Amino acid sequence: MTHVFHRSSTHIPPTVARGEGAYLYDTTGKAYLDGSGGAAVSCLGHGDAHVTQAIQRQLGEIAFAHTGFFTSEPAETLAARLTDLAPGALNRAYLVSGGSEAMEAALKLARQYHLERGDTGRARIIARRQSYHGNTLGALATGGNAWRRAPFAPLLMEVSHVAPCYAYRGQQDGESEAAYCDRLIAEIEAEITRVGPEKIMAFVAEPVVGATLGAVPPVAGYFRRIREICDRCGILMILDEVMCGMGRTGTLFACEQDGVAPDILCVAKGLGAGYQPIGAMLCTEAMHEVIAGGSGFFQHGHTYVGHPVACAAAGAVLDRLVGDDLVGRVAPMGAVLRGMLEDRFGQHPHVGDIRGRGLFLGLELVQDRDTKAPIDADRKIHAQIKAAAFADGLICYPGGGTIDGKDGAHVLLAPPFILSEDQ
Ligand code: PLP
Repeated sequence: MTHVFHRSSTHIPPTVARGEGAYLYDTTGKAYLDGSGGAAVSCLGHGDAHVTQAIQRQLGEIAFAHTGFFTSEPAETLAARLTDLAPGALNRAYLVSGGSEAMEAALKLARQYHLERGDTGRARIIARRQSYHGNTLGALATGGNAWRRAPFAPLLMEVSHVAPCYAYRGQQDGESEAAYCDRLIAEIEAEITRVGPEKIMAFVAEPVVGATLGAVPPVAGYFRRIREICDRCGILMILDEVMCGMGRTGTLFACEQDGVAPDILCVAKGLGAGYQPIGAMLCTEAMHEVIAGGSGFFQHGHTYVGHPVACAAAGAVLDRLVGDDLVGRVAPMGAVLRGMLEDRFGQHPHVGDIRGRGLFLGLELVQDRDTKAPIDADRKIHAQIKAAAFADGLICYPGGGTIDGKDGAHVLLAPPFILSEDQ
Protein backbone atom coordinates (compact mmCIF):
# COMPACT_ATOMS: atom_id res chain seq x y z
CA MET A 1 0.00 0.00 0.00
CA THR A 2 1.28 3.46 -0.86
CA HIS A 3 -0.20 6.86 -0.17
CA VAL A 4 2.05 8.59 -2.69
CA PHE A 5 0.22 9.67 -5.84
CA HIS A 6 2.79 8.09 -8.15
CA ARG A 7 3.25 9.03 -11.82
CA SER A 8 1.89 5.67 -12.87
CA SER A 9 -0.92 3.94 -11.03
CA THR A 10 0.06 0.57 -12.47
CA HIS A 11 3.70 0.55 -11.43
CA ILE A 12 5.34 1.58 -8.17
CA PRO A 13 9.06 2.03 -8.83
CA PRO A 14 11.78 0.61 -6.57
CA THR A 15 12.84 2.71 -3.60
CA VAL A 16 16.09 4.57 -4.10
CA ALA A 17 18.47 4.39 -1.15
CA ARG A 18 21.56 6.32 -2.11
CA GLY A 19 23.66 7.68 -4.95
CA GLU A 20 27.36 7.85 -5.61
CA GLY A 21 28.99 9.32 -8.69
CA ALA A 22 27.31 8.01 -11.82
CA TYR A 23 25.34 5.35 -9.91
CA LEU A 24 22.08 5.10 -7.99
CA TYR A 25 21.36 2.21 -5.61
CA ASP A 26 17.96 0.92 -4.56
CA THR A 27 17.10 -0.54 -1.17
CA THR A 28 17.90 -4.06 -2.38
CA GLY A 29 21.44 -2.88 -3.19
CA LYS A 30 20.99 -3.04 -6.96
CA ALA A 31 23.14 -0.48 -8.84
CA TYR A 32 21.90 1.61 -11.78
CA LEU A 33 24.20 3.60 -14.06
CA ASP A 34 22.46 6.96 -14.38
CA GLY A 35 22.80 7.36 -18.13
CA SER A 36 20.24 10.13 -18.42
CA GLY A 37 20.47 11.97 -15.09
CA GLY A 38 16.77 11.11 -14.74
CA ALA A 39 15.68 13.64 -17.31
CA ALA A 40 19.00 15.41 -17.92
CA VAL A 41 19.20 16.71 -14.36
CA SER A 42 22.13 15.09 -12.54
CA CYS A 43 25.02 16.69 -14.43
CA LEU A 44 27.41 16.24 -11.49
CA GLY A 45 26.33 12.72 -10.64
CA HIS A 46 25.29 11.87 -7.10
CA GLY A 47 26.79 12.64 -3.70
CA ASP A 48 28.92 15.60 -4.74
CA ALA A 49 30.50 16.67 -1.44
CA HIS A 50 31.10 20.29 -2.47
CA VAL A 51 27.41 20.81 -3.24
CA THR A 52 26.04 18.94 -0.21
CA GLN A 53 28.37 20.86 2.12
CA ALA A 54 27.23 24.17 0.62
CA ILE A 55 23.62 23.15 1.29
CA GLN A 56 24.41 22.17 4.87
CA ARG A 57 26.27 25.44 5.45
CA GLN A 58 23.37 27.46 4.11
CA LEU A 59 20.84 25.55 6.23
CA GLY A 60 22.91 26.51 9.28
CA GLU A 61 22.63 30.20 8.34
CA ILE A 62 19.12 30.76 6.98
CA ALA A 63 16.83 28.27 5.25
CA PHE A 64 14.03 30.58 4.13
CA ALA A 65 13.08 34.24 4.22
CA HIS A 66 10.29 35.45 1.94
CA THR A 67 11.57 37.61 -0.92
CA GLY A 68 8.78 40.09 -0.24
CA PHE A 69 10.79 40.98 2.88
CA PHE A 70 14.41 40.05 2.25
CA THR A 71 16.95 39.29 -0.41
CA SER A 72 19.70 36.81 0.45
CA GLU A 73 23.39 36.56 -0.18
CA PRO A 74 23.13 33.22 -2.09
CA ALA A 75 20.46 34.67 -4.41
CA GLU A 76 22.45 37.86 -5.05
CA THR A 77 25.66 35.95 -5.71
CA LEU A 78 24.03 33.35 -7.94
CA ALA A 79 22.25 36.00 -10.03
CA ALA A 80 25.50 37.95 -10.43
CA ARG A 81 27.47 34.88 -11.49
CA LEU A 82 24.81 33.53 -13.86
CA THR A 83 24.31 36.83 -15.64
CA ASP A 84 28.05 37.33 -15.85
CA LEU A 85 28.41 33.97 -17.59
CA ALA A 86 25.33 34.33 -19.80
CA PRO A 87 25.63 35.55 -23.41
CA GLY A 88 24.56 38.98 -24.64
CA ALA A 89 22.84 41.49 -22.40
CA LEU A 90 21.14 38.99 -20.08
CA ASN A 91 21.76 40.87 -16.89
CA ARG A 92 18.92 40.00 -14.50
CA ALA A 93 18.03 36.60 -13.05
CA TYR A 94 14.63 35.65 -11.68
CA LEU A 95 15.17 32.56 -9.54
CA VAL A 96 12.40 29.98 -9.33
CA SER A 97 12.00 26.31 -8.43
CA GLY A 98 12.17 24.54 -11.79
CA GLY A 99 11.80 24.61 -15.55
CA SER A 100 8.06 25.10 -15.91
CA GLU A 101 8.16 27.96 -13.43
CA ALA A 102 11.02 29.58 -15.35
CA MET A 103 9.03 29.33 -18.59
CA GLU A 104 5.82 30.69 -17.03
CA ALA A 105 7.81 33.63 -15.67
CA ALA A 106 9.33 34.17 -19.13
CA LEU A 107 5.92 34.28 -20.83
CA LYS A 108 4.43 36.63 -18.25
CA LEU A 109 7.44 38.93 -18.29
CA ALA A 110 7.27 39.07 -22.09
CA ARG A 111 3.62 40.13 -21.95
CA GLN A 112 4.15 42.66 -19.17
CA TYR A 113 7.18 44.14 -20.96
CA HIS A 114 5.13 44.81 -24.11
CA LEU A 115 2.21 46.17 -22.07
CA GLU A 116 4.39 48.59 -20.16
CA ARG A 117 5.91 49.86 -23.39
CA GLY A 118 2.38 50.61 -24.59
CA ASP A 119 2.54 47.80 -27.15
CA THR A 120 -0.67 46.32 -25.78
CA GLY A 121 -1.65 44.19 -28.78
CA ARG A 122 1.22 41.74 -28.42
CA ALA A 123 0.02 38.50 -26.85
CA ARG A 124 0.63 35.78 -29.45
CA ILE A 125 3.47 33.28 -29.10
CA ILE A 126 5.18 31.55 -31.99
CA ALA A 127 6.64 28.22 -30.92
CA ARG A 128 7.35 24.91 -32.61
CA ARG A 129 5.68 21.59 -32.99
CA GLN A 130 7.54 18.71 -31.31
CA SER A 131 8.70 20.90 -28.44
CA TYR A 132 8.29 20.78 -24.68
CA HIS A 133 8.40 23.77 -22.39
CA GLY A 134 6.84 22.40 -19.20
CA ASN A 135 3.60 21.12 -17.78
CA THR A 136 2.02 24.26 -16.30
CA LEU A 137 -0.72 25.67 -18.51
CA GLY A 138 1.19 28.52 -20.19
CA ALA A 139 4.27 26.38 -20.78
CA LEU A 140 2.15 23.43 -21.92
CA ALA A 141 0.27 25.62 -24.40
CA THR A 142 3.57 26.93 -25.73
CA GLY A 143 4.96 23.44 -26.21
CA GLY A 144 4.05 21.39 -29.23
CA ASN A 145 4.04 17.87 -27.83
CA ALA A 146 0.68 16.60 -29.11
CA TRP A 147 0.37 13.77 -26.58
CA ARG A 148 1.09 15.92 -23.54
CA ARG A 149 -1.26 18.67 -24.72
CA ALA A 150 -4.22 16.56 -25.81
CA PRO A 151 -6.17 16.06 -22.54
CA PHE A 152 -5.81 19.74 -21.62
CA ALA A 153 -6.43 21.28 -25.04
CA PRO A 154 -9.55 23.21 -23.92
CA LEU A 155 -7.49 24.89 -21.19
CA LEU A 156 -4.67 26.06 -23.44
CA MET A 157 -4.19 29.50 -25.03
CA GLU A 158 -3.85 29.72 -28.78
CA VAL A 159 -0.24 29.52 -29.96
CA SER A 160 1.21 29.55 -33.50
CA HIS A 161 3.10 26.30 -33.87
CA VAL A 162 5.55 26.15 -36.78
CA ALA A 163 7.78 23.26 -37.91
CA PRO A 164 10.69 22.27 -35.69
CA CYS A 165 14.20 22.38 -37.11
CA TYR A 166 14.54 18.61 -37.46
CA ALA A 167 16.78 17.82 -40.40
CA TYR A 168 16.51 14.03 -40.11
CA ARG A 169 12.82 14.18 -41.03
CA GLY A 170 12.26 17.72 -42.26
CA GLN A 171 15.03 18.09 -44.85
CA GLN A 172 13.83 16.75 -48.18
CA ASP A 173 15.78 14.45 -50.47
CA GLY A 174 18.21 16.51 -52.52
CA GLU A 175 17.54 19.65 -50.47
CA SER A 176 20.66 21.37 -49.09
CA GLU A 177 20.83 22.29 -45.42
CA ALA A 178 20.77 25.96 -46.40
CA ALA A 179 17.64 25.47 -48.53
CA TYR A 180 15.99 23.57 -45.68
CA CYS A 181 16.81 26.44 -43.33
CA ASP A 182 15.35 28.94 -45.86
CA ARG A 183 12.14 26.92 -45.97
CA LEU A 184 11.79 26.91 -42.17
CA ILE A 185 12.47 30.62 -41.98
CA ALA A 186 9.94 31.29 -44.75
CA GLU A 187 7.29 29.44 -42.73
CA ILE A 188 8.01 31.60 -39.68
CA GLU A 189 7.87 34.78 -41.78
CA ALA A 190 4.58 33.65 -43.34
CA GLU A 191 3.05 33.00 -39.92
CA ILE A 192 4.16 36.42 -38.69
CA THR A 193 2.55 38.04 -41.73
CA ARG A 194 -0.64 35.99 -41.30
CA VAL A 195 -1.06 36.89 -37.61
CA GLY A 196 0.32 40.43 -37.94
CA PRO A 197 3.75 41.25 -36.51
CA GLU A 198 2.24 43.82 -34.14
CA LYS A 199 0.30 41.06 -32.39
CA ILE A 200 3.26 38.78 -31.71
CA MET A 201 4.79 38.77 -28.27
CA ALA A 202 7.59 36.19 -28.49
CA PHE A 203 9.24 33.40 -30.40
CA VAL A 204 10.00 30.42 -28.13
CA ALA A 205 12.28 27.44 -28.79
CA GLU A 206 14.63 24.92 -27.24
CA PRO A 207 18.03 25.41 -28.95
CA VAL A 208 18.58 21.64 -28.85
CA VAL A 209 15.22 19.86 -28.64
CA GLY A 210 15.11 17.50 -25.68
CA ALA A 211 12.28 15.31 -24.46
CA THR A 212 10.04 15.39 -27.54
CA LEU A 213 12.58 14.75 -30.30
CA GLY A 214 15.63 13.39 -28.49
CA ALA A 215 18.59 15.80 -28.64
CA VAL A 216 17.99 17.46 -32.00
CA PRO A 217 20.28 20.43 -32.69
CA PRO A 218 19.38 23.13 -35.25
CA VAL A 219 20.95 23.47 -38.67
CA ALA A 220 23.62 26.16 -39.13
CA GLY A 221 22.34 29.71 -39.15
CA TYR A 222 18.75 28.89 -38.13
CA PHE A 223 18.71 30.79 -34.84
CA ARG A 224 20.71 33.72 -36.24
CA ARG A 225 18.05 34.18 -38.93
CA ILE A 226 15.29 34.04 -36.29
CA ARG A 227 17.17 36.59 -34.16
CA GLU A 228 17.15 38.96 -37.16
CA ILE A 229 13.42 38.47 -37.69
CA CYS A 230 12.67 39.06 -34.00
CA ASP A 231 14.73 42.26 -34.00
CA ARG A 232 13.05 43.50 -37.18
CA CYS A 233 9.51 42.79 -35.91
CA GLY A 234 9.85 43.74 -32.24
CA ILE A 235 9.32 40.13 -31.17
CA LEU A 236 11.10 38.85 -28.08
CA MET A 237 13.26 35.74 -28.43
CA ILE A 238 12.85 33.28 -25.56
CA LEU A 239 15.21 30.32 -25.52
CA ASP A 240 14.37 27.38 -23.29
CA GLU A 241 17.58 25.79 -22.10
CA VAL A 242 15.93 24.02 -19.21
CA MET A 243 17.23 20.70 -20.53
CA CYS A 244 20.09 21.61 -22.88
CA GLY A 245 21.66 24.38 -20.78
CA MET A 246 24.20 24.38 -17.93
CA GLY A 247 26.97 22.76 -19.91
CA ARG A 248 25.03 19.77 -21.23
CA THR A 249 26.00 20.51 -24.85
CA GLY A 250 29.63 21.41 -24.14
CA THR A 251 29.22 25.15 -23.54
CA LEU A 252 27.53 26.54 -20.46
CA PHE A 253 24.64 27.75 -22.63
CA ALA A 254 23.69 25.87 -25.79
CA CYS A 255 22.84 29.04 -27.74
CA GLU A 256 26.48 30.15 -27.52
CA GLN A 257 27.19 27.55 -30.21
CA ASP A 258 24.52 29.06 -32.45
CA GLY A 259 25.95 32.58 -32.12
CA VAL A 260 22.79 34.12 -30.67
CA ALA A 261 21.75 35.73 -27.42
CA PRO A 262 18.02 35.75 -26.64
CA ASP A 263 16.04 38.39 -24.76
CA ILE A 264 15.05 35.76 -22.21
CA LEU A 265 16.88 32.52 -21.42
CA CYS A 266 15.53 29.83 -19.10
CA VAL A 267 17.61 27.20 -17.34
CA ALA A 268 16.74 24.66 -14.64
CA LYS A 269 17.60 20.93 -14.39
CA GLY A 270 21.43 21.14 -14.46
CA LEU A 271 21.39 24.40 -12.50
CA GLY A 272 20.57 22.53 -9.31
CA ALA A 273 21.96 19.26 -10.68
CA GLY A 274 19.25 17.51 -8.67
CA TYR A 275 20.61 18.71 -5.31
CA GLN A 276 17.88 21.33 -4.97
CA PRO A 277 14.86 22.28 -7.09
CA ILE A 278 15.84 25.49 -8.87
CA GLY A 279 15.39 27.22 -12.20
CA ALA A 280 16.24 30.66 -13.51
CA MET A 281 14.79 33.07 -16.01
CA LEU A 282 17.46 35.45 -17.27
CA CYS A 283 16.37 38.62 -19.05
CA THR A 284 18.06 41.66 -20.49
CA GLU A 285 18.68 44.79 -18.50
CA ALA A 286 16.59 46.65 -21.10
CA MET A 287 13.57 44.49 -20.29
CA HIS A 288 14.11 44.99 -16.58
CA GLU A 289 14.38 48.76 -17.10
CA VAL A 290 10.97 48.86 -18.80
CA ILE A 291 9.36 47.31 -15.71
CA ALA A 292 11.51 49.35 -13.32
CA GLY A 293 10.59 52.59 -15.11
CA GLY A 294 6.93 51.58 -15.50
CA SER A 295 4.87 49.84 -12.85
CA GLY A 296 8.03 49.00 -10.91
CA PHE A 297 6.65 45.58 -10.14
CA PHE A 298 6.81 42.26 -11.98
CA GLN A 299 3.30 41.00 -11.47
CA HIS A 300 4.26 37.42 -10.85
CA GLY A 301 5.83 35.36 -8.10
CA HIS A 302 5.86 32.18 -6.08
CA THR A 303 6.48 31.65 -2.39
CA TYR A 304 9.81 29.97 -3.02
CA VAL A 305 11.41 32.37 -5.51
CA GLY A 306 15.05 33.00 -4.68
CA HIS A 307 15.13 30.21 -2.07
CA PRO A 308 18.46 30.65 -0.21
CA VAL A 309 19.27 26.93 0.08
CA ALA A 310 18.45 26.24 -3.59
CA CYS A 311 20.56 29.27 -4.60
CA ALA A 312 23.47 28.13 -2.42
CA ALA A 313 23.27 24.69 -4.05
CA ALA A 314 23.25 26.21 -7.55
CA GLY A 315 26.22 28.38 -6.63
CA ALA A 316 28.14 25.27 -5.62
CA VAL A 317 27.05 23.53 -8.85
CA LEU A 318 28.51 26.48 -10.78
CA ASP A 319 31.77 26.07 -8.83
CA ARG A 320 31.94 22.51 -10.10
CA LEU A 321 30.81 23.23 -13.67
CA VAL A 322 32.86 26.36 -14.25
CA GLY A 323 35.43 26.56 -11.43
CA ASP A 324 36.46 22.90 -11.76
CA ASP A 325 35.71 23.00 -15.50
CA LEU A 326 33.50 19.94 -15.59
CA VAL A 327 31.88 21.59 -18.63
CA GLY A 328 35.26 21.12 -20.31
CA ARG A 329 34.78 17.34 -20.09
CA VAL A 330 31.48 17.42 -21.95
CA ALA A 331 32.61 17.80 -25.58
CA PRO A 332 35.41 15.18 -25.41
CA MET A 333 33.34 12.69 -23.38
CA GLY A 334 30.37 13.31 -25.67
CA ALA A 335 32.56 12.50 -28.68
CA VAL A 336 33.67 9.25 -27.01
CA LEU A 337 30.10 8.22 -26.18
CA ARG A 338 28.86 9.17 -29.63
CA GLY A 339 31.63 7.13 -31.23
CA MET A 340 30.62 4.13 -29.13
CA LEU A 341 26.97 4.55 -30.07
CA GLU A 342 27.87 4.82 -33.73
CA ASP A 343 30.06 1.70 -33.57
CA ARG A 344 27.38 -0.26 -31.78
CA PHE A 345 24.17 1.05 -33.35
CA GLY A 346 25.23 2.90 -36.50
CA GLN A 347 24.08 0.07 -38.74
CA HIS A 348 21.32 -1.26 -36.52
CA PRO A 349 18.18 -1.87 -38.60
CA HIS A 350 15.98 -0.01 -36.10
CA VAL A 351 18.25 2.96 -35.37
CA GLY A 352 17.55 5.65 -37.96
CA ASP A 353 19.62 8.51 -36.57
CA ILE A 354 22.22 9.20 -33.89
CA ARG A 355 22.50 12.90 -33.04
CA GLY A 356 23.03 15.49 -30.36
CA ARG A 357 25.63 17.79 -28.90
CA GLY A 358 28.06 17.12 -26.10
CA LEU A 359 26.67 14.71 -23.51
CA PHE A 360 23.16 15.20 -24.84
CA LEU A 361 22.64 12.40 -27.34
CA GLY A 362 19.64 10.79 -28.97
CA LEU A 363 19.02 7.63 -30.96
CA GLU A 364 15.89 7.70 -33.11
CA LEU A 365 14.23 4.32 -33.48
CA VAL A 366 12.51 3.41 -36.73
CA GLN A 367 10.63 0.54 -38.24
CA ASP A 368 12.80 0.75 -41.31
CA ARG A 369 16.09 2.65 -41.77
CA ASP A 370 15.53 3.32 -45.46
CA THR A 371 11.97 4.61 -45.36
CA LYS A 372 12.43 6.15 -41.86
CA ALA A 373 8.97 4.75 -41.04
CA PRO A 374 8.44 5.48 -37.36
CA ILE A 375 8.00 2.71 -34.83
CA ASP A 376 4.30 3.03 -34.08
CA ALA A 377 3.88 1.14 -30.85
CA ASP A 378 1.22 3.27 -29.17
CA ARG A 379 3.93 4.61 -26.84
CA LYS A 380 4.42 1.13 -25.37
CA ILE A 381 7.91 0.98 -26.81
CA HIS A 382 9.04 3.84 -24.56
CA ALA A 383 8.04 1.92 -21.45
CA GLN A 384 9.50 -1.31 -22.79
CA ILE A 385 12.91 0.24 -23.49
CA LYS A 386 12.95 1.99 -20.15
CA ALA A 387 12.05 -1.23 -18.31
CA ALA A 388 14.52 -3.40 -20.22
CA ALA A 389 17.41 -1.00 -19.62
CA PHE A 390 16.40 -0.55 -15.98
CA ALA A 391 16.35 -4.32 -15.44
CA ASP A 392 19.92 -4.36 -16.77
CA GLY A 393 20.93 -1.54 -14.42
CA LEU A 394 20.90 1.36 -16.87
CA ILE A 395 18.80 4.50 -16.59
CA CYS A 396 18.02 6.06 -19.97
CA TYR A 397 15.20 8.36 -21.05
CA PRO A 398 13.07 7.09 -23.93
CA GLY A 399 10.40 9.32 -25.44
CA GLY A 400 9.04 10.55 -28.70
CA GLY A 401 6.79 13.02 -30.43
CA THR A 402 4.10 12.38 -32.98
CA ILE A 403 5.39 11.75 -36.50
CA ASP A 404 2.82 11.71 -39.31
CA GLY A 405 0.14 10.82 -36.76
CA LYS A 406 2.20 7.95 -35.39
CA ASP A 407 4.18 7.65 -32.18
CA GLY A 408 7.85 8.34 -32.73
CA ALA A 409 10.45 6.81 -30.45
CA HIS A 410 13.92 7.83 -29.38
CA VAL A 411 16.26 7.11 -26.53
CA LEU A 412 17.84 10.13 -24.87
CA LEU A 413 21.17 9.86 -23.10
CA ALA A 414 22.35 12.61 -20.77
CA PRO A 415 24.91 11.12 -18.40
CA PRO A 416 26.79 13.06 -15.71
CA PHE A 417 29.81 15.08 -16.80
CA ILE A 418 32.00 13.04 -14.40
CA LEU A 419 31.33 9.89 -16.43
CA SER A 420 34.38 7.76 -17.18
CA GLU A 421 35.01 5.97 -20.48
CA ASP A 422 34.55 2.58 -18.78
CA GLN A 423 31.17 3.58 -17.47
N1 PLP B 1 11.53 23.02 -20.74
C1 PLP B 1 12.21 21.96 -21.18
C2 PLP B 1 13.01 22.08 -22.45
C3 PLP B 1 12.18 20.74 -20.49
O1 PLP B 1 12.84 19.68 -20.97
C4 PLP B 1 11.44 20.68 -19.28
C5 PLP B 1 11.37 19.41 -18.52
O2 PLP B 1 11.64 18.35 -19.01
C6 PLP B 1 10.76 21.81 -18.85
C7 PLP B 1 10.83 22.97 -19.59
C8 PLP B 1 9.98 21.77 -17.58
O3 PLP B 1 10.83 21.71 -16.48
P1 PLP B 1 10.32 21.14 -15.07
O4 PLP B 1 9.99 19.72 -15.27
O5 PLP B 1 11.49 21.40 -14.16
O6 PLP B 1 9.13 21.96 -14.68
